[in-house]
Amino acid sequence: MSTSDLKTTLVVVGAGMAGFSAALQAAQAGHDVILLEKQSETGGSSAMSGGCLAFAGTDLQRANGVNDSSELLFKDLREVGKFENDERLVRAYVDNQLDTYEWLKQAGVQFGPHIETSSGQSVPRVHNVDPADAVRALAASARRTGRVRLLADTRALRLVRDPQSGRVAGVTAQRGNETFKVLGSRGVVLASGGFVHNAELIHRYVPQYNEEAAVFIGGEGNVGDGLKMAQQLGADCRDMIYIKGTYGKHPVDETNHHSLLAVYKGAIAVNQDGKRYVDESISYKLLGDACIAQPYSSTFQVFDQSIFDSGDNQTRILDIERRHEEGLVIQADTLEELAAMIEVPADVLADTVKTYNGYVDAGHDRDFGREHLVHQHGELVKIETGPFYAYPSTAAVYGTYCGLCVDPDMHVLDVYGEPLEGLYAAGEVVGGLHGAAYMTGSALGKAAIFGRIAARAALAD
Ligand SMILES: Cc1cc2nc3c(=O)[nH]c(=O)nc-3n(C[C@H](O)[C@H](O)[C@H](O)COP(=O)(O)OP(=O)(O)OC[C@H]3O[C@@H](n4cnc5c(N)ncnc54)[C@H](O)[C@@H]3O)c2cc1C
Repeated sequence: MSTSDLKTTLVVVGAGMAGFSAALQAAQAGHDVILLEKQSETGGSSAMSGGCLAFAGTDLQRANGVNDSSELLFKDLREVGKFENDERLVRAYVDNQLDTYEWLKQAGVQFGPHIETSSGQSVPRVHNVDPADAVRALAASARRTGRVRLLADTRALRLVRDPQSGRVAGVTAQRGNETFKVLGSRGVVLASGGFVHNAELIHRYVPQYNEEAAVFIGGEGNVGDGLKMAQQLGADCRDMIYIKGTYGKHPVDETNHHSLLAVYKGAIAVNQDGKRYVDESISYKLLGDACIAQPYSSTFQVFDQSIFDSGDNQTRILDIERRHEEGLVIQADTLEELAAMIEVPADVLADTVKTYNGYVDAGHDRDFGREHLVHQHGELVKIETGPFYAYPSTAAVYGTYCGLCVDPDMHVLDVYGEPLEGLYAAGEVVGGLHGAAYMTGSALGKAAIFGRIAARAALAD
């Protein structure tokens, strides 16, 4: 061991929601933690996210008159993931979610008063936080324990194994020109996020997603370091082919990186030919796939004034008004004018809207089978009251939602399904929870829930 090497009980790589949750959980149990963050700022994708977390059966839902349960959450998660997800991980999420919701509140995370429905949810289940504040609250709680040492600007490079036992015993890390080891007697939790900024790696798994077809947004440090570190030791991965963009990102605006899902309030999605191409109520990840298959990977969400005015705007992805104020929503008095402004054939757009309105009246969408506004929730509405609006939309890859195979205690598994002793993972670096698609709020939820489970397991083993 060199003089600059560091020793602690648990090493955590990455200071986003998952890393802080793991670190805080371990510190509250009386253990010392070194938390490595390669960037100068903590927070990763967590701090820039939409701040939606999926929990079921909470006091907030009850206060909003929402009847939900862990079993319904389990059913929805499995269905959204098209049963491609690992049932044991879904169970781990569900069994630990309510406790984690309360734990986050205890740790100072503040949830807004409203509950929203979003992608993949049979009942309103989105619990809103200010994402940067939530990370700050966890960081402050971790600091207060006096047991978490945060090393910013410090990048974990490789995992270190104990030469005798082969157990993962720490990492080599780099800060400036200095390279040193950080050793943890209870091992390492990888909480290094996904690889949204590793275009080459994404393209390898999903060739249809390249920089021309979609936009890529997330924590600057998220290039797949943790994934590769574990792969070097033989870790297995899953869900890689299910990397998907989220529908509803404005293709060129750089001031607002969030998606708008006016479709979940009743808008239709049309392509450059002015035609619908999908059931708009499905997961916004599947809508992302459908969008990039359209000409120029660019489409429009088309709606009218009553859809604009419907629901509330508490959830960022439903906040049409805000995008309108930002000048991103195209407005016209008539559908013909709107078609001219977005350069789609006016007669086709008029026909598309007329046909769709007919389906709403008849209660049956003969083209794509849309039955609800979102998932199995909300009655369809006609597009008929001007002014009319269009929101240019493409798919944005906000996260990779796939990665290391883990068991329900977050032990990282090798290609034979055996645990790599001393190695745990949590958050976006983990594969298997989402399966084929993703329920809004389950990525941030998974970061907090799995972060806590990983720390508990590391300390119990
Ligand atoms: C714009 C946007 C909106 C989103 N909205 C939502 C939402 O509303 N609800 C939801 O559920 N999900 C949402 N997501 C996804 C969600 O934010 C992420 O999946 C989740 O925050 C991941 O948390 P994490 O802690 O695993 O990773 P991150 O928060 O990304 O943290 C990982 C950290 O690890 C650091 N790191 C990486 N490699 C190393 C290394 N080698 N050494 C040291 N540090 C390293 C990174 O710099 C980063 O700080 C959104 C994502 C984006 C980008």
